[in-house]
Amino acid sequence: MLTEILQTLSATGTTLVAVSKTHPPERIMELYRQGQRIFGENRVQEMLEKQAALPNDIEWHLIGHLQTNKVKYIAPFIQMIQSVDSLRLLLEIDKQAAKNERVIDCLLQFHIAEEETKFGLDESEARELLSDPAFTQMKHVRICGVMGMATFTDDRDAVRREFRHLHSIFNHIKRDFFPNAPFFKEISMGMSGDWQAAVEEGSTMVRIGSLIFGDRN
Ligand SMILES: *Cc1c(COP(=O)(O)O)cnc(C)c1O
Repeated sequence: MLTEILQTLSATGTTLVAVSKTHPPERIMELYRQGQRIFGENRVQEMLEKQAALPNDIEWHLIGHLQTNKVKYIAPFIQMIQSVDSLRLLLEIDKQAAKNERVIDCLLQFHIAEEETKFGLDESEARELLSDPAFTQMKHVRICGVMGMATFTDDRDAVRREFRHLHSIFNHIKRDFFPNAPFFKEISMGMSGDWQAAVEEGSTMVRIGSLIFGDRN
């Protein structure tokens, strides 16, 4: 499955984040041996255990909700935090990144789905965050783009609308806040059930779990 997915993604230069949550290190190593280096986890504790047990050149992406008191544990090694949804969290990431003499790449997570349960900002909240003097003074975080999850539904048109919405948010924020920042380029959208539609709607990064690793219990 990995090979088929990668073949499709290579045509558009889309990055694959292999979402390994709930699966043991041995399963991650199987993909590692096939060349996969980017893995996504949604829980800090689980990521820490796997990070300690696995090769150092794995790039870990945090894709789940992050509590400010846990940032310090991942700050030494995390490649990208995709789930930034508040200024408070970003301040803590900046602080912990500074302590580790690093710059941490982040994505702003947007709420594009109809479900109430999903975390994320709306466009006006993101604008407020990016306009805040506290943000403009941060030197140890780099906002590389946006992330979102579509509604879990069979309604393909609804899912497409949500992906288009995220793409338009990306365009507006790029234009107004990052016009000359080549690093602001990521639109992280698409999961096992909707990644092809996401790529057609301009995704630069898909986060695929069950399609690669099989079902989670
Ligand atoms: C679990 C998860 C995924 C992957 O989901 P699959 O349906 O297994 O591909 C992607 N993104 C986030 C934020 C997740 O929590």
